Amino acid sequence: MGIAVGIDLGTSNSVVAVMRDGKSVVLADEEGRKIHPSVVAFGYGHSVVVGQRARQQLAYAPENTVYSAKRLIGRRADSEEVDRVRRMVGWGVATGPNGDARIRVQGKVYAVQEIAAHILSHMKKIAEQATGEVVDAAVITVPAYFNDQQRQATRDAATIAGLNCLRIINEPTAAALAYGFGQGRRQHVAVYDLGGGTFDISILRLDDDLFEVISTSGDTFLGGDDFDGVIADHLMAQLTHQAGVDLSGSAAARNKLREAAERAKRALSEVEAVAVKVPGLGRDAQGNPIGLQTRLDQHTVQRLIMPLIQRSFVVCDDALNQAGLTPRQIDEVLLVGGMTRYPLIAEAVGHYFGRSPNTHLNPDEVVAQGAAVQAHNLTSFSETPGAVLLDVTPQTLGIRTVGGFVEAIIPRNTPIPTQEAKTFHTAHDNQTEVRIQVFQGESRMAADNELLGDFVLGDLEPMERGKVKVKVNFAIDADGIVKVTAQDLHTGNNVDMLIEACSNLSADEVQEMKFDDLGF
Ligand code: AMP
Repeated sequence: MGIAVGIDLGTSNSVVAVMRDGKSVVLADEEGRKIHPSVVAFGYGHSVVVGQRARQQLAYAPENTVYSAKRLIGRRADSEEVDRVRRMVGWGVATGPNGDARIRVQGKVYAVQEIAAHILSHMKKIAEQATGEVVDAAVITVPAYFNDQQRQATRDAATIAGLNCLRIINEPTAAALAYGFGQGRRQHVAVYDLGGGTFDISILRLDDDLFEVISTSGDTFLGGDDFDGVIADHLMAQLTHQAGVDLSGSAAARNKLREAAERAKRALSEVEAVAVKVPGLGRDAQGNPIGLQTRLDQHTVQRLIMPLIQRSFVVCDDALNQAGLTPRQIDEVLLVGGMTRYPLIAEAVGHYFGRSPNTHLNPDEVVAQGAAVQAHNLTSFSETPGAVLLDVTPQTLGIRTVGGFVEAIIPRNTPIPTQEAKTFHTAHDNQTEVRIQVFQGESRMAADNELLGDFVLGDLEPMERGKVKVKVNFAIDADGIVKVTAQDLHTGNNVDMLIEACSNLSADEVQEMKFDDLGF
């Protein structure tokens, strides 16, 4: 029997932790590193390296080096978000057989779940090396705002990596768990989580070891990468101005500037100004090499990133509204995600809530630590009860009705697990099929939400209209994953459902992709 760990599978970096003697400990690799880039690099013969070594390859082989793959997980290839990723990265984005976004490297197409599985497998190995034990189970964290498809895809990634996914928990909830577990606190806590790719805010009520999420809100396209993006755009504009050549069409140049922007951003979290030197960006019409040499100061960066920070506060307003609280009613503010290391962000968050955020937690490690607490709770037998986690569903679950509108079935911020039933009648005589389209999202129009599945309830008994009644049950489990089942009320039989237009992998595909025991 192996042990269970907590894994923070981040957009930029991943972290693994385990409970040891009642404390949650982040595990380091052989070089002592605790934070591992979520980067998967492909080499000759489709060989794969993950983590720090993979990140080094980004500078010279961006087309073979997959980063930020989490932005694509559980998304359809034709979505706006995927389009944005396509413009941002050096590797190719392809369309899978179900319309899901996939990743093309060296002419081969990979499901995003496979890329995520490589990262999970890497974390598993690090944990096994650090503990000397077999790791076969994990609690994996996801952004609170992840929808059903993104959660399901994360679960599938664990299966491909040979890990039993004990539970999917939300990153902010995990952070609150690491902060409050065993501390006997009674507080309202806000978790402001700004990572590499996503922003989440969760409002929790802590009552001893009861952790109750009251509301959550987020933006799956607001993260450190976007901050790098606006700084890189600024550098690109400077380059165009200096060299008189527009290199914005070059993926290699864009990548180099993005890397430089990220380095500068990190440096500017400690110093007032930095020199930015990026050689070898391309050549001009005469064949001379083009490089960028400039200076960035905190003031300029503040001007560039302030609109992004403001966007996060609109999301905070929404979460507080949903919780029926004002910023001043929050007793403690926790910062999570690497981007909150930037002092301007901590300062702005402090202004917003009217209190300085907690500075005792490590924003990079706290999520994995909370996941390890939960992994321990779910696998250990002890006389004292562990923490009780009550989370909510982040997005409204609904079905399409006439006119392309959505009828809400389970509203956002409903505590999970939960279920709701709805009865459908046939609308025509001898109708043998009922079609139900399930959506997740906040728009009143179906087309603006995420289509989870197109369910066809077939083989109904031909009868007069309205006579056949089908009861459809919509359930959301503790992982936030949606399950839809249906029953013919006339016969009492369960109705078979065909799921179409679902961007997830089938169970068979997941099995086929599974890594063998020797790894990859
Ligand atoms: P995460 O997904 O939580 O690992 O967050 C990664 C993001 O945090 C990336 O965009 C990093 O550039 C950013 N980041 C990490 N450390 C710092 C720092 N000291 N200052 C500014 N940004 C940082």
